Amino acid sequence: MASAGFTKDDLAKYPFLKETAQYIRPLGLQIDDLASAGMDQLLRRAEERVDEAIINRCIDRNLKKIDLEILSFPVALLIVIATENSFIKKRYALAEAKQTSRDLAFEPKEKILKIARDFDWNINLSAKVDIDTPLEFTIKFTDYLRNAARLHDKKWKLTNSILSHGNIYLNRKDAARLLEEEVRRRVEKRLDVKLPKYPPELTAAAERVKKLASEVIGAMETDELPKVVVQTAFPPCINALYHEASSSHHLSHVGRFTLTSFLINIGMPAEKVNELYKTFSDYNERLTLYQIEHIAGERGSGTHYNPPQCSVLQTHGVCKNRDDLCRRIYHPLGYYKQKIA
Ligand code: SF4
Repeated sequence: MASAGFTKDDLAKYPFLKETAQYIRPLGLQIDDLASAGMDQLLRRAEERVDEAIINRCIDRNLKKIDLEILSFPVALLIVIATENSFIKKRYALAEAKQTSRDLAFEPKEKILKIARDFDWNINLSAKVDIDTPLEFTIKFTDYLRNAARLHDKKWKLTNSILSHGNIYLNRKDAARLLEEEVRRRVEKRLDVKLPKYPPELTAAAERVKKLASEVIGAMETDELPKVVVQTAFPPCINALYHEASSSHHLSHVGRFTLTSFLINIGMPAEKVNELYKTFSDYNERLTLYQIEHIAGERGSGTHYNPPQCSVLQTHGVCKNRDDLCRRIYHPLGYYKQKIA
């Protein structure tokens, strides 16, 4: 156990908790320490967190190296602060928040209760059982209002909630969604500072992150992309995957994800992407369409997925036949956008 309340895994999964800060404080890590030898791994993991936030709007936890994971959060915050870019700050806070609500879906209700109390929620367990979903929590209506205010779906209106003696009944999914708002605000607040100076390692990481953000976000602005798919502008890795899909009728998991998310992002309709997989030996129409729509953000959590960045594709052996333009970009969508510009 890391402390009376949370395990070390919890501190890594929920690094914005007050207890995580208390756990880190005695280590006395200072910003200038990042310039010392032996900090590469920590800086790399921290930068990876920010990259993932920009590309995928969530941040997968790596619980194999638990201390590194815990420490990478404050370092990632420093990188984001050093970008001095409000878009990246918002995107990072959102990604930490989204990852939290995903992880909370698998936690016991007692853990959700503890995390909510870290935000000073007046929350308790309830025994109320709905026909479909157990309403496992009651929270003070003021805590509810503070977090539901930004949510536009009419189900969050106070008049549509079950209110009793100043408390609102909530199921686990809704409690996690409201906590997502708390996390986003807490992380945004921690990013809302300006530091007098940064070690060069941090400045270099911040510059790389800014470049990635302008490529990915620029490429995501679909208005700027032509309405038709321009196959001649595909980056070499996507051409290779496309060719492999049509000739060998098989792709690795990463290959399938990369090709599908790339095609969806450049505006290919899901049915057209589905056509590509029809000749695969393991083709199952219902499942394939579901997977494609999931990547497009039309199913499940609603997250719209982007293809991985080049460094990740290189690790997985998906980056093939690099050309001159590849040397100047960080992301396959950045390649596509530059090629058609
Ligand atoms: S560098 Fe990037 S865009 Fe170019 S082939 Fe490799 S993964 Fe694709």
